[in-house]
Amino acid sequence: IQFYIGKKVLVVGLAKSGVAVSKLLHKLGAIVVVNDQKPIEENVQARELQELGVEVICGGHPLELLDQDFDLVVKNPGIPYTNPLIKKALEKGIIVITELEIASIISEAEMIAITGSNGKTTTTTLISEMLKESEREPLLAGNIGTVACEVAQVATKKNILVTEVSSFQLMGTENFHPKISVFLNLFDSHLDYHGTKQAYGEAKAKIFANLTKEDYYVINEDDPNVVRLSEGVNGNRVTFSVKKKVENGAYIENNTIYFQNEKIISLDKIVLPGAHNLENILAAICAAKLAGAKNNRIVEVLSTFSGVKHRTQFVTVINERKFYNDSKATNMFATKVAISAFSDPVILIAGGLDRGNEFDDLIPTLKKVKGVVLYGETAQKLGNAAKKAGLTFIKTVNNLNEAVNEAYDSSSKNDVILLSPACASWDQFKTFEQRGDTFIEAVHNLGK
Ligand code: ADP
Repeated sequence: IQFYIGKKVLVVGLAKSGVAVSKLLHKLGAIVVVNDQKPIEENVQARELQELGVEVICGGHPLELLDQDFDLVVKNPGIPYTNPLIKKALEKGIIVITELEIASIISEAEMIAITGSNGKTTTTTLISEMLKESEREPLLAGNIGTVACEVAQVATKKNILVTEVSSFQLMGTENFHPKISVFLNLFDSHLDYHGTKQAYGEAKAKIFANLTKEDYYVINEDDPNVVRLSEGVNGNRVTFSVKKKVENGAYIENNTIYFQNEKIISLDKIVLPGAHNLENILAAICAAKLAGAKNNRIVEVLSTFSGVKHRTQFVTVINERKFYNDSKATNMFATKVAISAFSDPVILIAGGLDRGNEFDDLIPTLKKVKGVVLYGETAQKLGNAAKKAGLTFIKTVNNLNEAVNEAYDSSSKNDVILLSPACASWDQFKTFEQRGDTFIEAVHNLGK
């Protein structure tokens, strides 16, 4: 912690995490300069920091900022490394990190970190729930709930941080060191930011970079990408598989989940639907058991927990049509598993930000749906995939509200109307939560 006293730090990009890290570094005695795109007049957060005595430069990312000497740059995870200011900082040899690195350094509590392309939030939530009533009180940190460095400040040895970590955050780590790392799966998402799948995989593999022999890493033995990226890692290897018995970890035998040959729960007691969630459950059991969770608590959680909001969330039934909100499906791999979770006919509502990818991988799954209602930047590309899948019910509309009306008007009794966009929301919404809430509202308005 003393490391930061008198250090000159540039924080680039505010948002929730930028504000938290600026306040923390200021408190720890660093000389903080904050730089944010949004002009100061519209920037409440920047003005709040200014009042604390932090120097604030807003309305762009001027390169001259780096004429001053900085010891460290802390960037918002969403700002790409191609940003000219970040590029210049790296050229000057300044270390560029994300706040996750600081959280890891200052935390007295040990950390469980969870990464992967899909299933992070569900798994993180499960682990945290399972660890309640154990020796150490779990604290959710990171993307769910409170910014990691804010939680890290208050955490003590009696706690354990349960942190969902994205590849964007991991990219900006140097000494990041979780006690237990969980790597769920690796699909081709976020290619616009990382460039190639290899770079994306390497960013995620940074979760393992500083493990020691006393640490644990939990990996999906069914995902060859994950297995490959964990080769040669220090620490104790624990695996899970939904397909086969594993030597050290969690698996299924006779419709029962086992962890290291100990019976944990039979599958019929589990509430969470979908084959994909079984992977998340096995991963969560591994991490929770390693951290000291009690079996009866694990059983209690799994027999009551029905899922996180916006993740294949049941909304309502109107006129015998069921509505599900899977707004969190920001890539096609998530949409695939959502569609596969239903046996009734599905009308899929999809579309959103164009990240440059095609949707050919979605074609086999699209063959299973009754129809698609598309909107947003990717409507046309998704329409092409739907045509290739042989669908005749393909409708394109301008926005999500129209999509809900169109899907309902074209539906029959017993249909599932599923929002699972296969894309990020940022072409028409601020967040996937806002998109999901818009969907829920539009659905409730149907009945009016
Ligand atoms: P993340 O936080 O990684 O985005 P979530 O738990 O929020 O993951 O789930 C997002 C979506 O990803 C879910 O709605 C579901 O459709 C899909 N998904 C969840 N877990 C998995 C998994 N293990 N494998 C594939 N897809 C998954």
